[in-house]
Amino acid sequence: MTPYISAEEETSRAEERRLSSLLPRIFDLFDLYRRVGTDAQAVQAMRTERLARMLRHALSEVPFYRRFADLATTVDDDPHLALRALPTRTKRELAAGLRSHCADKLSKETDFAVRTSGTTGIPFRFVIDAEHLAHTIAQGLAHQEPAVRGGAFHLRKLELYDRRHDGWFEYTSAAKGLARVASLSLRGLASDREHRAAGFVWRFAPDMIFCHPSQACELIGHCTEHGLPLPAPSVVYTSGEQLDARDRARIESAFGAPVRDTYGMREVGAIAHECPSGRYHVMDERLCVEILDPGGDEPVPDGTAGEIVVTHLINRAMPFLRYRTGDLGMITAADRLPCDCGRASSTLTLTEGRKNWAITFPGGESVSVLTASRAVRGFPVERFQILQQAADIEVLVKWLPEATGADTAALRSSLTELFGDTGARVRCTTAADQDFVRSPSGKQSEFLAGVSR
Ligand SMILES: [Zn+2]
Repeated sequence: MTPYISAEEETSRAEERRLSSLLPRIFDLFDLYRRVGTDAQAVQAMRTERLARMLRHALSEVPFYRRFADLATTVDDDPHLALRALPTRTKRELAAGLRSHCADKLSKETDFAVRTSGTTGIPFRFVIDAEHLAHTIAQGLAHQEPAVRGGAFHLRKLELYDRRHDGWFEYTSAAKGLARVASLSLRGLASDREHRAAGFVWRFAPDMIFCHPSQACELIGHCTEHGLPLPAPSVVYTSGEQLDARDRARIESAFGAPVRDTYGMREVGAIAHECPSGRYHVMDERLCVEILDPGGDEPVPDGTAGEIVVTHLINRAMPFLRYRTGDLGMITAADRLPCDCGRASSTLTLTEGRKNWAITFPGGESVSVLTASRAVRGFPVERFQILQQAADIEVLVKWLPEATGADTAALRSSLTELFGDTGARVRCTTAADQDFVRSPSGKQSEFLAGVSR
């Protein structure tokens, strides 16, 4: 087979070369994470020690945190207590004060700036270091390892994420556990009339597939529609979007393989991986996760949902301390709920998935995304999407067959009433599947800010 290659491949190769230099470090850390992952005491001790080290670093080397230098003695006694004395940080605050949240000394060799667009409409740059990359990759490999007999190394991995090129390419990745990696852009799949891309997927015979849930469904839809065979991986890893029960069932039955989902953010990497028992285990060795009152900095009582707030224990270039994710969840400690899979970390339950809190208008008024979504779901709609561009709101609706003209009129007046006080111009448009918009990073979302069609 001769894979077809696009010009942008060089970018990925440069990135891969950078990651390859980390291989010895990744291998050591992979071994470490595999050993400590099932030992509750070792996980706790590692987390406390890493937190103390990170806080000492931030209080002395990071301009924003230097004003809290008095906490140094508390760090020695109880680093978790010291952490709770620091203010939480939002993406907006970090975007506005990037330099003051970075360490005084950054290295051209080991520290990299990363840019995200995301679904919140706030463009965001942040800085990570080589250790952050090595730990994130190593812990991910340790998590994947039990899924396939014989270890996570030397596997064939298919990735559907890449949107920088329009076809298919393969390479051997040191950073991904010396795996043979194939990257397929679904943009290429859609424009590929001869279905060569789908043929490559079949012949590549991946052991693992990595994708957003919507991408897996897109591949399944394309192959089903054109009578093309699907590969039979051992496992499908999803991330980046809220995975609903319907998509999970569709993916599992189409590939004949279990789906394991990951909850995470680019800023801090994977936050929780789903295990074979269906629990989302928090990466306690690498992160401290708190659940706080969405309106303030206070922790909510155990077993109550609140905002997920993360502290990253590795990235010294730009410490993310008490970083607000905007997502809702609930934490259960490992000792209160032991898991069949043997992992000794706490369990995260995502309650509302990845949604923004509010649609905010230029005048400062806002409407909760949940309220707006509920208003639309009250009608016979198959799917919908709310797009915001400054004061313009467009609601795309794909109606179910039973919907009538009266439903359309009623939804219009309900939306007009909901956004009435904000001064927003609201349009409601009947849409087909191809009209729905993806975020710049390729995700599907019910709400996108800074986007119009
Ligand atoms: Zn488990």
